[in-house]
Amino acid sequence: MSSNVKVDYDSPASLKEFLDQHGLAMQKKFGQNFLINSAARKKLVDALEVEQGTSVWEIGPGLGAMTYDILNRGADLTAFEIDHGFASILKEFFGEMDNFCLVEGDVLKTWKKHLENTKQPERLFGNLPYNIAATIFADLITAGVRFEKGVITVQKEVAMRMCAAPGSDDYSSLAVLCQWAYDVTPLIDLSGGSFWPRPNVDSRAVKFVKKQDFPRCNDAAFFCRMQRALFAFRRKTIKNNLGAFMNSSEKAEIALQKAGIDPKLRAETLKIDDLLRLSDVAGELM
Ligand code: SAM
Repeated sequence: MSSNVKVDYDSPASLKEFLDQHGLAMQKKFGQNFLINSAARKKLVDALEVEQGTSVWEIGPGLGAMTYDILNRGADLTAFEIDHGFASILKEFFGEMDNFCLVEGDVLKTWKKHLENTKQPERLFGNLPYNIAATIFADLITAGVRFEKGVITVQKEVAMRMCAAPGSDDYSSLAVLCQWAYDVTPLIDLSGGSFWPRPNVDSRAVKFVKKQDFPRCNDAAFFCRMQRALFAFRRKTIKNNLGAFMNSSEKAEIALQKAGIDPKLRAETLKIDDLLRLSDVAGELM
């Protein structure tokens, strides 16, 4: 397996020189920070557990620091990259490899169309731009797209929200969605110094493994909408938020009673099983 990679991914000086030579610059608006720590890159790719023919979606490959390793392990990789300058470099580096596919543009807008023409991928990988990580993850799960495994590096706060337990400050709609679909565990912490340019936040990689007993409710789309609505106003009780969602506080009261849930509680104290049970009875009353 060969490629035309012509940059040292560990060296800010080499990366800068390479970008200058190609008339490119790092764009803050796209959350661009390259992972220049080769040991961390290896750990992330190892954790993805790919073999020959595994299908992988990589979001935000940048100049391909980890793309190269994943392709060399024989995976079929689709890269989603918004930066057209980076995309042209990715084509130059990997375009000749028949296990490489590039989707240019905003992944939030391109992934659905791409999925229409391909089978569901087995892995999700990305050192995700901080501003889109939570959105893309929620969009994919809500649409019923589930990967066997995923390794995602995000801002530490977002990772904490993904892994948070009920009752904790970080427990949110994102935690419910992630843990409903996956067993989510922290993998490795990365300080700002592992990246170039150095961001002023720390990052954390998390590993996702698909839950077998899914969706555990009658209507997955309804569950997604309902649970988001229950976290909409964190200070309000579950009865108030559910009443607004169902357009009827009477129906909300009946649903909570049937599900055996105290109406005065707040959503952040409810376990996923409580929310799933509630979704089934609320769905029947709508
Ligand atoms: N994976 C590379 C690495 O670890 O060195 C780069 C990671 S950098 C934090 C984020 C990457 O995501 C950049 O390449 C950026 O251009 C890309 N990106 C940002 N927003 C995006 C979007 N909406 N859709 C696709 N790619 C995006």
